[in-house]
Amino acid sequence: MTEFFCDGILSDLNDLRWQILDAKEERWLKQKAFVNLYKSTLIVFKMNIPSWPKISTDILVVFHKSLEIFKENLTSSKIAFRLIEIQETLLGPEAFISTKMNANDIKDLAIHFEEYHNIGRFFDVDVIDNTGKMIERKIKRKCFLCSEQAIDCMRNQRHSPEEIKEYFDEKIANYLKS
Ligand SMILES: [Zn+2]
Repeated sequence: MTEFFCDGILSDLNDLRWQILDAKEERWLKQKAFVNLYKSTLIVFKMNIPSWPKISTDILVVFHKSLEIFKENLTSSKIAFRLIEIQETLLGPEAFISTKMNANDIKDLAIHFEEYHNIGRFFDVDVIDNTGKMIERKIKRKCFLCSEQAIDCMRNQRHSPEEIKEYFDEKIANYLKS
């Protein structure tokens, strides 16, 4: 491993791959630490951004606007919560929220947000129970662009990265105008 790093042939792409892995591991460790600390359900409110970089002025505005809406959804469902932290990493903006409510109920609310918020398809709201177990979606997510399952489009590379990015940028721009 050390030799691999020292031989000086690491391409930018490989470098990015390592950074992504690091950022994902850091998020995972943080989730684990928050679950242990608060002994509660943990919500990881994050976006599904199909291009690089995953942080821009527009993305941050959309993220914070949508986070406010998500928090209002929690409040109107009489769910007490604590916003622990908001961070910006290579993977995009993320908010960590804890609540004493049942993780399955919170997952239902998160799925409702992903389905019904104007640009909910661009959000990935993870819910982890107080033992650290990730609550899985029972119904698979639909693709951004078509009515097929997202995982199926990804596996079959049904859409080009350019097509997906164009769609994302257009929806984000429209949302910011609304
Ligand atoms: Zn599709």
